[in-house]
Amino acid sequence: MNTAVNRDLFLEKINALIAGKRADNCFYYTQEKYSKMLSEVVSAKIKCNTPLNYRRLKRFDVLKINDKEKLIVPLKPGKTNIQYYVINEELYSILYETHTKIRHGGRTRMLKELQAEYKNITYEVVMLYLNLCKQCQMKHSAPKKGIIVKPMVSSELNSRCQVDLIDLQSNRDGEYKFIMVYQNHLTKFVQLRPLKTKRAEEVAHHVLSTFLTFGASAILQSDNGREFSNQIISEIYAMWKDVKIVRHSQT
Ligand SMILES: [Zn+2]
Repeated sequence: MNTAVNRDLFLEKINALIAGKRADNCFYYTQEKYSKMLSEVVSAKIKCNTPLNYRRLKRFDVLKINDKEKLIVPLKPGKTNIQYYVINEELYSILYETHTKIRHGGRTRMLKELQAEYKNITYEVVMLYLNLCKQCQMKHSAPKKGIIVKPMVSSELNSRCQVDLIDLQSNRDGEYKFIMVYQNHLTKFVQLRPLKTKRAEEVAHHVLSTFLTFGASAILQSDNGREFSNQIISEIYAMWKDVKIVRHSQT
């Protein structure tokens, strides 16, 4: 399986992106624009006599490597890390090598690696590349562990029930501040109880009275979290030793 980014597709997209930019933008360099800037910087270094030349030399320097001249960011005193300007044609191979080197790392890693070495590789170019990487896209679309995708189906009347609380503290009715919602998973039959607190004893008392009317549920689940259902179950155990319940928190 080829998991690399399709080069032709990348070039097509990058060309469309650059076509939407002004010709004098300072991030995207055609070979022609790069060569022109390079010779301008070289002559500015020989004779820096205009404000334009001065501004150029603040942004650019020229470094000769194996008889080839490269545009770089002027080194600050005491610094040694060189940042290169790259031309559009180099983008694909640089992104490919970096992305492979960091084993399909995400945009933050990519940007960090690239910006250490190159001056003009933009966020949008990195995102364009990552969005075309099949391996990264598969990684993102894979279902996350721990999330239940399949809906739960109950076949028995008391196999599964849900207990949740509605918080009415801001709109209390006298001493009642919560509503307990108890729902049978199979029949969807709902019972509501007013509660003065959300303490486990009080909730458990009402759950137990429902159990005693309709039968005990084998599984008790709650959107209020694991700790909540654990506490209710231990309270119910304290009141009714022989009951068998399995906790299941659904988040
Ligand atoms: Zn990737």
